[in-house]
Amino acid sequence: MKRPALLIALIALIGLLAGCGSRTAAPDYTYTSVPFTDARFTDGFWAPRIETVSERTIPFAFRKCEETGRIANFAVAAGLADGDFQGLQFNDSDLFKIMEGASYRLAVSYDEPLDRYLDSLIRLVTLAQEPDGYLYTPRTIGRTMPRDAGAERWSNIRYSHELYNVGHLYEAAVAHYYATGKRTLLDVAVKNADLLYATFYEPDRKIVPGHEEIELALVKLYRATHDPRYLDLARFFLDARGSDGEQGSYSQDHLPVTEQREAVGHAVRGLYLYMGMADVAALEQDAAYIAAIDSLWNNIVSRKLYITGGVGGQIDGEAFGDNYYLPNDKAYCETCAAIANCMWNQRMFQLHGDAKYIDVLERSLYNNVLSGLSLNGMEFFYPNVLEVREEMFGEWCARRSPWFDCSCCPSNLSRFIPSLSGYIYATGNNRVYVNLFGSSEATLSLGQDRRVAISQRSDYPWSGEVEITVDGNGAGRFDLLIRIPGWTQERPVASDLYRYVSSEAGRTVIRINGEEVDYRKEKGYAVLSRTWKAGDHVSVSFPMEVRKVKVNERVTFDRGKFAVERGPIVYCAEGVDHPGRSVVEMEASTGDEFRAGRSELFDRPVILRNEERGITLIPYYARAHRGLSEMSVFLREE
Ligand SMILES: [Zn+2]
Repeated sequence: MKRPALLIALIALIGLLAGCGSRTAAPDYTYTSVPFTDARFTDGFWAPRIETVSERTIPFAFRKCEETGRIANFAVAAGLADGDFQGLQFNDSDLFKIMEGASYRLAVSYDEPLDRYLDSLIRLVTLAQEPDGYLYTPRTIGRTMPRDAGAERWSNIRYSHELYNVGHLYEAAVAHYYATGKRTLLDVAVKNADLLYATFYEPDRKIVPGHEEIELALVKLYRATHDPRYLDLARFFLDARGSDGEQGSYSQDHLPVTEQREAVGHAVRGLYLYMGMADVAALEQDAAYIAAIDSLWNNIVSRKLYITGGVGGQIDGEAFGDNYYLPNDKAYCETCAAIANCMWNQRMFQLHGDAKYIDVLERSLYNNVLSGLSLNGMEFFYPNVLEVREEMFGEWCARRSPWFDCSCCPSNLSRFIPSLSGYIYATGNNRVYVNLFGSSEATLSLGQDRRVAISQRSDYPWSGEVEITVDGNGAGRFDLLIRIPGWTQERPVASDLYRYVSSEAGRTVIRINGEEVDYRKEKGYAVLSRTWKAGDHVSVSFPMEVRKVKVNERVTFDRGKFAVERGPIVYCAEGVDHPGRSVVEMEASTGDEFRAGRSELFDRPVILRNEERGITLIPYYARAHRGLSEMSVFLREE
């Protein structure tokens, strides 16, 4: 059943490329992600999770949308049912995000009932759209409006989420179009975007959407339709920010975007803004945008990034805190912010071709993002704290929940995880970048008629041995670039925010067809240049020592403490493994040895044990699966 969907996707893609015409020479990202439809995890770590999200989380999330009125809102707006609007003013966006995820799932493996279910939802969305293209169910229903919806259309775009919601509509529409070749949802998006363009676009006007999202979504719509008005409108919204500063730093409206150097305000808003800037910067080769997002990246990675890859340390306003403000028990680290951090770092990599961005992506993915998703795919964390004490057991950060009134995180996981295999490889300039590791199969395109098949065999993240085979008809001369992760070197990420206690990490060894090679390093990658023959075999051996991490002294919360890592995985101690002791107060020494071994718990991860002190550490992502328990990422230094 796989072939029809892939074929349709291919036809849609060919149609798009053919539509490029004179635009083929237009600038864009230097490095292209290999589409998730061209790569597939077959490993024991990601493949089951992608399956869980596709087979359980997405149907579960649709059911929750049915139970909570998120779908009924469209039916009522469409005039097919009677009732009031139910829920919060941004609830339309949850349905759109899950539809986006379902489209990705369809593109990977066709499923007729899911296709038909999506068609039925699209009919509701189409009928809920007003004749001129406006789409926002609270106002169309028009009885009891959510408080922040505003009296009239767009009269309160600071809080109404009118533009945010349709941004997620555009992302879903583009995904559905690529997956099925059908224009049904794309037509709804186009009609809405045309209305926005006609309503707002005047070069001297300043319109600041409250919650960013519309900007990056308009770029996606532009890429799918090649209508330059959508790119112009994206830029129009970006450049409006900071004109009168009315919305302040919470919405990144305190300064023009080209003058922003410190990440401030609501973290998800900020990261969605930076994504939109990266997209427009790539398409318009805008140096001022690039200078701004480069500085913002440095600010986050030097001062505002948790060891788990989380961002947005401040509960108040779900926001970036001040520099070095990284509390553990009060960490916010929203799952959506971690997903956005991955998506933004992918774009930064695509601009610059530097492994330091994928180091941050990997850290965020394996730790903060995964912490937000339970192993059964049906329980979630919204904030992801790094410390739970007994008095916090009543709080939502201590236990997983099946859903939330504001359910942005489950719906974001529903769309992000199914597209994950799109992050394994990238190509550009006759190069193949290996960014993520794990058993997988992929077919990459290296320019005209050159297809390269690449497979990986690895038990990553538990083992550092990665076997890469180059195959297919694409053999020939190209550079294979293998990311040497930051955690194999002296620093976890490219800043002085974290450092390893011991600088001895072992050496990454690379062999080609059994023979060790001296490799050149460039921007964090081992560069292997040669004329590849079908069946060539590269084996990479990363050192997988247990490493202790100290935090910059300016982070007061972590003074006298250290964290423990192995490979890309950050560990934590849970109370359930330490009866009668408080893991928050637990002492250890940075010289302690931790023995790594496979556990029978969870998904059989490698856990760490120190017998002398009776300390057991589990992967941070696996926390909170065994009832309420204290938890700490950091151990106190003896
Ligand atoms: Zn969220």
